[in-house]
Amino acid sequence: RALDASSATGTNPTLFAKEFSLADRVALVSGGNRGIGLEMALALVEAGTRIVYCLDLPEKPGDEFTKVREYASHLKGTGGEARLEYVSADVTNQNAMWKIGKTIGDREGRMDVCVAAAGILRGDTPCLTYPAKQFEEVIAVNVNGVLYTAQAAGQQMDRFGNGGSIIMIASISGHGANQGHPWVSYNTSKSAVLQMARSMACELGPKRIRVNTISPGYINTSMTGQFLAKRPELVEVWSSHNPLGRIGRPDELRGIVAWLASDSSSFCTGSDILVSGGHHAW
Ligand code: NDP
Repeated sequence: RALDASSATGTNPTLFAKEFSLADRVALVSGGNRGIGLEMALALVEAGTRIVYCLDLPEKPGDEFTKVREYASHLKGTGGEARLEYVSADVTNQNAMWKIGKTIGDREGRMDVCVAAAGILRGDTPCLTYPAKQFEEVIAVNVNGVLYTAQAAGQQMDRFGNGGSIIMIASISGHGANQGHPWVSYNTSKSAVLQMARSMACELGPKRIRVNTISPGYINTSMTGQFLAKRPELVEVWSSHNPLGRIGRPDELRGIVAWLASDSSSFCTGSDILVSGGHHAW
């Protein structure tokens, strides 16, 4: 780009803000009713996204979502308009996901950002007897569901030709293994997501659709809360394995998702970003 430093003051907040701005963008976030997905949706809205469609399983959104939607509608410049929309759907239903993508595309005339955050952790059985049904359930949501979410948004990104950013929430569990149960299904699913993102990044690069993953370490949400309720001693174990000595918060993923969604990360695709307090794997 052409550089003219005649009026520079040593910083260029306007240029910097523009690079990071998501103004006018349209986003789809799965698992957006609570936890990490909802936090990601809020980060996108605060970075300027015109509207974020938050997709999740329950028929009606929860209180947490309603509170965040209300807050988002009062952000400066929104004029009381809804910036978060709730969509009830099952990410494992490919047809339904494609239809939702098309409906959003028809209504908004674009699709720019996708965050595939819906995920599950199931079971409490050793790997040698881990039930087929639970294994299939975890793979269906954590792998197939991520693909169908990326397809739903990616088809619309392709249709409108503006490029786009697909962000999949993987995990440190996709990088290493941990002792105990029920990790055999979860770890398998998350390493598949890492490879899915790389493959899609290669194929979609020419369309300027970028595909990246974020691999969080242990984050305090209802997923970990339910798990730790059964095994409270793991709080100490997880914290002591972490160089920062603690479990993370969903809001500590905000910056990275906003960056990956924005033009500031325009040369970043097929990458995985660990946000784990330095804890990489067991
Ligand atoms: P939560 O359980 O709090 O949120 C997951 C959301 O996904 C829930 O709202 C859940 O809906 C939704 N969901 C589950 N199945 C489906 C489905 N079939 N269709 C649509 N939505 C569905 O978990 P987190 O916020 O902690 O996790 C978000 C993502 O981050 C997951 O992919 C998880 O694997 C990943 N992750 C989490 C970490 C952590 O420590 N918390 C660490 C690393 C990665 P419902 O309420 O109905 O169950």
